[in-house]
Amino acid sequence: ASKILQHLGKGLRRTHLGLRNYSQELRTVTLIPGDGIGPEISEAVKQIFEAAKVPIAWEPVDVTPVKAPDGRMVIPQKAIESVNKNKIGLKGPLATPIGKGHQSLNLALRKTFNLYANVRPCRSIEGYKTPYDNVDLVTIRENTEGEYSGIEHIIVDGVVQSIKLITETASRRVAEFAFKFAESNNRSMVTAVHKANIMRMSDGLFLRCCREAAEKYPSIKFNEMYLDTVCLHMVQDPTQFDVLVMPNLYGDILSDLCAGLIGGLGVTPSGNIGAAGAAIFESVHGTAPDIAGQDKANPTALLLSACMMLKHMDLTEYGNRIEAAAFEAIKATETRTADLGGKATCSKFTDAVCEKVQQG
Ligand code: NAD
Repeated sequence: ASKILQHLGKGLRRTHLGLRNYSQELRTVTLIPGDGIGPEISEAVKQIFEAAKVPIAWEPVDVTPVKAPDGRMVIPQKAIESVNKNKIGLKGPLATPIGKGHQSLNLALRKTFNLYANVRPCRSIEGYKTPYDNVDLVTIRENTEGEYSGIEHIIVDGVVQSIKLITETASRRVAEFAFKFAESNNRSMVTAVHKANIMRMSDGLFLRCCREAAEKYPSIKFNEMYLDTVCLHMVQDPTQFDVLVMPNLYGDILSDLCAGLIGGLGVTPSGNIGAAGAAIFESVHGTAPDIAGQDKANPTALLLSACMMLKHMDLTEYGNRIEAAAFEAIKATETRTADLGGKATCSKFTDAVCEKVQQG
């Protein structure tokens, strides 16, 4: 640790950001590299952070499930302790076995650290052509319950039941988060996304909590819309939306649709904000097994998630500088990765961002 401190201390003296001696403010961040393309894109982020001389030290942890005394597969205690201690983490994608094996590790992390709000900003990238060039919205997804509560059972052979759990506590918490987020990020409108016409009790409760939160924020316009209507309007004119708040499953799906509007999963970041002060930032995409280990992945989504993390840590200047370098590298067609129609490898893109961040 003292070596890293020294290295970063030297870095500060060379930097022209005019910050205070950050070796005193060095913060440790838990790093979960993840599966599939996770290790490649995590490495890219580490390199870019080093080039930008960001005053943090990484604490890599392994989250491969281990057997608990009761036989359940659980997240290793070391990883839990690391997040509890550091209160901040960056996470690569984790593979989830379908229909068998251990529970989704993503779900386990969300439950363990009570990461109740999943924040996914979606902004058009200047110079990268998409059907709309001025998308700038944020989806906020309730992250702990709904259809993801994991309450499923067989009623009789051939009939299964999954429970959608909605509580007032979780709905109120995420609704208030959405308004607070809008207020502190100079955003003017919050749209509650729901299906209270069909799920009258569960979505009805969620909507009531949003309405009540709206009353406390009179300066923010409140709007409510059915999920299907949101989908229609989202592809017709996404610029009409600002902040959107919704139950878990709707957020999972709608945020991918939004990602498609700005260039896809390779460029869409997210943050998971926890009730007890912990926050874990991660790309929206999965492990991309089809391109893993081939130096083809676009590290932008994880990099932008890491920039969100820097802003959350009050290291906004670093975050802005890295973000600008990444957008510049995307603007130049020769450093674009394949998912954005270019030919650059993950390493070539990373080198370009490092170069730009050092110049910036
Ligand atoms: P995926 O997001 O991994 O891949 C979908 C498509 O997008 C693939 O063609 C992939 O090559 C491409 N893609 C994704 N990220 C990319 C990037 N950074 N650069 C370039 N191309 C990229 O979705 P999937 O195939 O449905 O899921 C694979 C695994 O990931 C599953 O086990 C799933 O459960 C898991 N997953 C994890 C998370 C997470 O950890 N948060 C999220 C979604 C999926």
